[in-house]
Amino acid sequence: MGINWLTVAEFEQMLGRAGRLKKHEKGLAYLLVEPGKVYSPKMKITEENIAIKLLGGKIKDYELIPDDYKSQTEILAFISMFNQRVPKENIFQFYDHLINNNFDLKDVLKKLMTSNLIRIKEDSTIKVTHLGRAVAKSFLSVDESLEIIEKLQNKSESPLDIALDLESLRNVYLSKNIVAGLSKNINMRYFSNNLFSASVLSLMNAEYVRKRKTFSRDFIDFITKLTSEIFNCNCKDNPYCDCAQLNLEKLILNLRVKENMKIEEISNYLAEEYKILIFKGDLIDYLENLIYSLESIQNIAEGIPNLDEKYKIEADKIPNLIKNIKY
Ligand SMILES: [Zn+2]
Repeated sequence: MGINWLTVAEFEQMLGRAGRLKKHEKGLAYLLVEPGKVYSPKMKITEENIAIKLLGGKIKDYELIPDDYKSQTEILAFISMFNQRVPKENIFQFYDHLINNNFDLKDVLKKLMTSNLIRIKEDSTIKVTHLGRAVAKSFLSVDESLEIIEKLQNKSESPLDIALDLESLRNVYLSKNIVAGLSKNINMRYFSNNLFSASVLSLMNAEYVRKRKTFSRDFIDFITKLTSEIFNCNCKDNPYCDCAQLNLEKLILNLRVKENMKIEEISNYLAEEYKILIFKGDLIDYLENLIYSLESIQNIAEGIPNLDEKYKIEADKIPNLIKNIKY
């Protein structure tokens, strides 16, 4: 496909779409082949030979690549299904039935135990810990959760900052007027209208746009406002660091929680104040995912034994914050 020939699996997948389930008894697919055709010097066989290969070919077995953290997440999820201690044999039985059991179960169990997610008892039964259950209940994988646990224990970031880090706001666009003005001024063939795209970020320099006389007053004002209020960190990498995105996320959260704005009002406010376009659906998605992240972090924080008091208080604020996001 594209510059590569179709594989047998891709070909069969396309064939499977012919006809309609429960409407037709038969689906027809046609192969349009130009005999003798070769598309690039790299492709040594001609089109009709490829076609014959596809028709008679066998699908290669799908190979699952071992992934240590995925295996840990899966085994932890299984153990957490039980309210009581699970005999080791049950876990080994489950493991035998896995399609992707190309990993060492004993090793995975040992890692889960070292991370304090499960406890292995003397009678060879296994029980999930509070922390393990919180991790299994969250939508996070074991590796993501361990990172959060570490941040909470090191007190390096507040629970809210951890949640903001987990979820990022992706579809942020420049308003139509700004894009129209830009296309007149910028000689770029592929100009993205996404605020965080490299082409837009390269313009986030107020001094630079002020010097170039071709930019409109509106555009200069736009860049000046963004560089002073959103792209305003002192990082060496500014504007290519994550700070601006984080600032925008915090702004949205504040508009929602402190100003009690409706989603539509937030969208309008960003468009009027910052000439930034975020669709309502994307805002809802973002806030919804932020709620999931916050809930997971709260559960994980509750599962950590001897968590710092200050952090406990912070984590206890989460349900109220969620209530205000939902309101
Ligand atoms: Zn920064």
